[in-house]
Amino acid sequence: MSKKQTQPSKIRRLERIVEISRHLSSTHDLTSLLQAIVDIACELTDSAGVSILLYDHASGELRFEAVPGIQDQEMKGMSVPLDSSIAGWIFTHTRPMVLQDATKDPRIYREIDKSTQFQTNSLLGVPLIVNQQPIGVIEAVNKRDNGHYTEDDLAVLETLAGQAAIAIENVRLLKKLKDANAELLRLDRMKSDFIAIASHELRTPLGLILGHATFLKELSEADHQEQLDVIIRSAMRLKEIIEDMAIIAHDDEGKSRIRRESFSINDLIIEIAQKYEKAADKKGIVLESNVSKDEELIIVGDKEKISLALTNLVENALTFTDSGGQVGIKAEKDEGYVKVLIVDTGIGIPADEQERIFDRFYQVESHLTRKHGGMGLGLSIAKAMVEMHNGQIWCESKEGMGSLFCFMLPVDEEKASAAARIFKTN
Ligand code: ADP
Repeated sequence: MSKKQTQPSKIRRLERIVEISRHLSSTHDLTSLLQAIVDIACELTDSAGVSILLYDHASGELRFEAVPGIQDQEMKGMSVPLDSSIAGWIFTHTRPMVLQDATKDPRIYREIDKSTQFQTNSLLGVPLIVNQQPIGVIEAVNKRDNGHYTEDDLAVLETLAGQAAIAIENVRLLKKLKDANAELLRLDRMKSDFIAIASHELRTPLGLILGHATFLKELSEADHQEQLDVIIRSAMRLKEIIEDMAIIAHDDEGKSRIRRESFSINDLIIEIAQKYEKAADKKGIVLESNVSKDEELIIVGDKEKISLALTNLVENALTFTDSGGQVGIKAEKDEGYVKVLIVDTGIGIPADEQERIFDRFYQVESHLTRKHGGMGLGLSIAKAMVEMHNGQIWCESKEGMGSLFCFMLPVDEEKASAAARIFKTN
């Protein structure tokens, strides 16, 4: 054939490859993808049939995953061994192979031909390679009109194999990702169920322990008071943990309700600072609150929930700051929001941990080695409480220098200003 005659068909073939590569990258179902590849390979190499064999890690063989026509579907799922087949040779050597006369070639694995009553006359095969690793083989068989496979056929099949391998890998990765996501969702549901069941089931026995311990404390002599105090303190700590779990369970189930009331953030900060004054003092930490006396910062929302968020942040600041350090709480207006800041001079949080600390059960230090108690729920509860009010929460921190936790709550301007007037007149 002269060069002039082959040019148009070569360009046409390249155009088809460009067309098909667009289609391949948008197909997300492996079976349809492989079928599209074999159909186009048949057309472009002018072959009676094309099949795709993918490497099966479990059996260590190459398995037919796509075959040309409906009549050949029985081939699907059949396997060929790596060491006694042409496909196996192409795969292990990661090199193409052309057999112009395959009828008597001893390397052909005849079992497939026998069971499908197909006769392989000629064959062109190339490996499917991803990241320099073979994942399978694409084979075109029986060039039409008893023709010979040409260099152009090889070039076309190799180009197509390159596109196909990437598309196959993408679909496989997508499936893996979907499976992993489904598994994560399943585990997350299990975790939520566990939290809900545990918090519910532990409540009643714990209530009984607390009730009876308090009753015994009232009755008992002075020499047992200390032991009973330990029981009550420990039971109270357990109660806090169970309450945290119950808040998380409620949030998961969408059962949390927000009460809407006007309250002063200034007053809340003062209240909480007073509550923790003694604990800070005992630890040798200076706890300061800085709220403006002139400007009342009013929020319309659930005071109990915002108080819980603030309490968790202040408790953390005190926990992760050593003696001689400082903790400050302040609030300010910020364009339609009230911004609350909790700053400490404590141990700080490594930059790569800062995003994850708001995740449930996440703790920077392993719970096995850490000095402080806690379940890793405080910040996730604070986040849930703030987000319930359409607010935002974040942290800025430098390891060894300290942390700043900040949350912003939107001010319902109209109601807030009316409420502020009432506050002032009272
Ligand atoms: P926990 O109750 O276990 O402390 P939290 O959700 O409140 O859980 O906090 C998660 C983790 O974030 C903590 O274990 C700690 O490692 C880190 N962290 C929180 N607040 C601070 C802070 N102010 N300074 C340093 N680390 C903090």
